[in-house]
Amino acid sequence: MYDYLVVGSGLYGAVLTHEALKKGKSVLVIDKRSHIAGNVYTERMEGINVHKYGAHIFHTSGKKVWEYVQQFAEFNHYINSPIANYKGEVYNLPFNMNTFSKLWGTITPQEALAKIQSQQGEIKKDPQNLEEQAISLVGRDIYNKLIKGYTEKQWGRSCNELPAFIIKRLPVRLTYDNNYFNDFYQGIPIGGYTALVDKMLSGAKICLNVDYLKNRESLCLEARNVIYTGPLDAYFNYSLGPLEYRSLRFETEVLPIVNYQGNAVVNYTDRTPAFTRIIEHKHFEFGTQPQTVITREYSAEWKPGDEPYYPVNDEKNMSLCKRYKELAQKEKGVIFGGRLGEYKYYDMDKVIASALNMCKKIL
Ligand code: FAD
Ligand code: UDP
Repeated sequence: MYDYLVVGSGLYGAVLTHEALKKGKSVLVIDKRSHIAGNVYTERMEGINVHKYGAHIFHTSGKKVWEYVQQFAEFNHYINSPIANYKGEVYNLPFNMNTFSKLWGTITPQEALAKIQSQQGEIKKDPQNLEEQAISLVGRDIYNKLIKGYTEKQWGRSCNELPAFIIKRLPVRLTYDNNYFNDFYQGIPIGGYTALVDKMLSGAKICLNVDYLKNRESLCLEARNVIYTGPLDAYFNYSLGPLEYRSLRFETEVLPIVNYQGNAVVNYTDRTPAFTRIIEHKHFEFGTQPQTVITREYSAEWKPGDEPYYPVNDEKNMSLCKRYKELAQKEKGVIFGGRLGEYKYYDMDKVIASALNMCKKIL
């Protein structure tokens, strides 16, 4: 009998596995997919590490988490600096002096600020929705060209029906700095995320293509404790009703050229084309291969059975989630963790930190 059965080989499960093994515990890891690493899974195509479930850039301000991941991979110096393409015009993201200069011809921070301020006044009271929040942050020109179309494609709803907080996490800078993130540490693991997770799982028994929920009885006999990182509602057979998600669809293509778009991430910020962005994977690792691999990313409505990506942070789903969490607390010998097990949008560094915290409690 194993000490732990870890359901799901994503980052949360991998941290728990690594730390349990270090403490001399025995661990069985299962995953219903045919591969390890969950959503950070990368697959080699044409010598390029392709991010199969969407672009993953590691960024953190947590020194401990940064040092922790260094044990499993060397990280390169990649800095995410996406480009926005609006009807063929290109702009730097996040919103910074380069963006303002291209849009308005402004040169100094004072000129850019004056331009933004001349447009912010349109919103007289506290912003009530994403549209008002965006205009009061950066003005109508940027809202129209770089925010409205992208956001409406991404969320499938009009900007005046979306909560204001979504847009607050995007930096607005009066410096010529194209770094999308404010975090102190950033990079991509050289060789891909799958190799990193593989190293974390080293020493565990791993069984792929095994769905815990379909083999619950027999698997319960295999281990004393369960770490469950699958969907919270599915564990309870959706007894309180399903939690909702936003889904994604990816179209990946190999092209016989060296360089397709000159950048890893290009956002398409108008309503057309229908995809939100194109990822050119080789640029995450400064690849020089003769071919290139690109992925068009479409945002999609989610229905039960689809791959769940983003939890929906509205009141209805949050209160349902709370009720499921009450059930989870009563479940003896089972820990629920990770983005599906907690129904929480977690960046990679946050999911690692949360898993390490759990290790402190239980190991
Ligand atoms: P997962 O990686 O989802 O792992 C859960 C695992 O459990 C899966 O492998 C699944 O197959 C398995 N499983 C589920 N149910 C069962 C079952 N019944 N039986 C057996 N196995 C089961 N974070 C960043 O920091 N930077 C980024 O740039 C970034 N980009 C992202 C882009 C996209 C499109 C998305 C969706 C997320 C992004 N994230 C990013 C977040 C990142 O993906 C997560 O933080 C991380 O993958 C969460 O790990 P996890 O272990 O909780 O979940
Ligand atoms: N956003 C935008 N234009 C862009 C990029 C982002 O309007 O080119 C908005 C959009 O509303 C998005 C939010 O900013 O939902 C947060 O962006 P982020 O890149 O953090 O979202 P992600 O794609 O990682 O979910």
